[in-house]
Amino acid sequence: MKETGEPMAQAETVIFTDLDGTLLDGNYRCDPAQPLLQRLRELGIPVVFASSKTRAEVERLRRDLGNRDPYIVENGAAILIPEGLLGEEPARAGCVRSRGVWQYAPARQRTEILTVLGRLRQEHGFRFRAFHDLDPGRLAAITGLDPEAAALALRRQASEPLEWKDSPARLDRFRELLRQEGLELVRGGRFLHVQDPACDKGRAMLWLLGLYARHRGAAVRSIALGDSENDRQMLELADVAVVVPGAAGERLSLQRREGVVVAPAPGPAGWARALSRLLGLDRQASHRP
Ligand SMILES: [Mg+2]
Repeated sequence: MKETGEPMAQAETVIFTDLDGTLLDGNYRCDPAQPLLQRLRELGIPVVFASSKTRAEVERLRRDLGNRDPYIVENGAAILIPEGLLGEEPARAGCVRSRGVWQYAPARQRTEILTVLGRLRQEHGFRFRAFHDLDPGRLAAITGLDPEAAALALRRQASEPLEWKDSPARLDRFRELLRQEGLELVRGGRFLHVQDPACDKGRAMLWLLGLYARHRGAAVRSIALGDSENDRQMLELADVAVVVPGAAGERLSLQRREGVVVAPAPGPAGWARALSRLLGLDRQASHRP
């Protein structure tokens, strides 16, 4: 893969990052990335979290990390923009305001998805375990989340994660039946996600970039970071894609060849090294006394 040469201009860059396996490690921590997150905040470079996680989960993480930028939840099913951040653009773009945040939610609702899943399970006997089947205690035991975080993970708006407990051949059949219902199955880091095919992280990113460009009156450049299949569209569409490898060195293979960087390490350590190099911040840091 080809590496990009010169560091990108900082002021006009917006960063879009996946969370699990990318900014966060297997223990949901991002310690090695904290100094760079702080530096980006000082420089005014937005870091947009783009995750399969729920609004409630991402909001907790944003609070913990002091992030004040827009965020994309449930794989693009909803886009949230803190009030005042992009002026009047969210209102013009058809967002709805609640609790100091503008929300744009183009996806089909979770209740519809659960209805379809219930019917397919009943008619075909598919074996899977969806989040809807779990209480916070069970989900905490499966994922290693603490019970409070697990409760936030269950507060979904427009997508349903599940663990497949049936054969691979039956999974293909399940996928096809979902497609006939107008839904798609996307592989995330830990779960398969049933969601509206009209929504993905890539489309959400482009929509948000449009708002940034109109608000600033100039084009903005995007850097996207991700590690798995549900990051693919975002990584294919960003100006620069950073593929973060998995713990065993496995990595997502993109169609594009230009503008792709493979992070030198998994998780938040690789995230920070790849990004600081792209932004030229590694050199600035080394020139400090
Ligand atoms: Mg991930």
